[in-house]
Amino acid sequence: KRVITTELIEEDYKIENSLRPKLLKDYIGQTKAKSNLKIYIEAAKQRKESLDHVLFYGPPGLGKTTLAGIIANEMDVNMKITSGPAIEKPGEMAAILNNLQEGDLLFVDEIHRLNRQVEEVLYPAMEDFAIDIVIGKGASARSIRLDLPKFTLVGATTRAGMLTAPLRDRFGVVNRLEFYTTEELKEIIIRSAGLFKVYIDEQGAGEIARRSRGTPRLANRLLKRVRDFAQVKYDGKITEEVAKFALDLLEVDKLGLDNIDRDILVTMIEKFSGGPVGLDTIAAAIGEDSGTIEDVYEPYLIQNGLIMRTPRGRVVTDITYKHFGLIQP
Ligand code: ADP
Repeated sequence: KRVITTELIEEDYKIENSLRPKLLKDYIGQTKAKSNLKIYIEAAKQRKESLDHVLFYGPPGLGKTTLAGIIANEMDVNMKITSGPAIEKPGEMAAILNNLQEGDLLFVDEIHRLNRQVEEVLYPAMEDFAIDIVIGKGASARSIRLDLPKFTLVGATTRAGMLTAPLRDRFGVVNRLEFYTTEELKEIIIRSAGLFKVYIDEQGAGEIARRSRGTPRLANRLLKRVRDFAQVKYDGKITEEVAKFALDLLEVDKLGLDNIDRDILVTMIEKFSGGPVGLDTIAAAIGEDSGTIEDVYEPYLIQNGLIMRTPRGRVVTDITYKHFGLIQP
């Protein structure tokens, strides 16, 4: 696994929960989503009602699960966690819903991966707090309606476009999470370092922040790697020098690119004069699968203006040339 993947990987498990902020005021960045939620939470509390269903969408590692936990905490209710791929049968979803207590928050991660039949159980549950259960088979089958306690569904997805309209329409609050600025990531890193009880200075935090691809999960992971390094090779303190040294060794460069990202870009420049070149051609040249390039590597490169999509293929930009210290022909 790449050290810069924004997906949850094994080494994150131990640290993630301990680093999650528990209150809205400690959640850094995402100003729009935060102020939006603050109002809904206060209003629901005043009315002594459960919060409307909430959908979070955006790339992995930006804090969707964390926000769900914060909502539960601020509303003073329990959170139950499940995920789209974990629920295979409608009956399993019905059982989960039926076991909820009044006010509970049900967090469904990767909600776009629920299958159709399971998803259909959610429609009446979200709308009327009820589930329809079919009893018996064939001619004697009949449907009965079971009332559920009032609950809040919080859904998270990396692919909002893959949600069906009936599901999407049942969320009263929809929030898109954005990539974090370097300043915000710096704040997150300094906060996490405090929880790790490790010394870090502003410049050290800034260096890690710049290479974290706008993603708190990655910022925390890189911080942890740099901390190990600082302990073994230095006096335990994280300064700019230590951060630079460690991240260079990890081959994460100033823009947060790793060697595969760089391989893609350099190949485009050296072998294809910067493009336009087709995805399959790039894939063959570097020996990667073109689907992986498209889903995993390319989005960050496009987002940062290092690659552009054109009708005739991919091209690199002046930013790319500058990044490698080259002059654009
Ligand atoms: P997602 O559910 O979007 O994949 P998570 O909520 O699991 O992301 O967040 C990943 C990690 O990043 C968590 O360990 C959390 O501590 C940290 N994190 C995310 N957002 C913030 C934030 N706004 N402030 C501080 N830490 C954050």
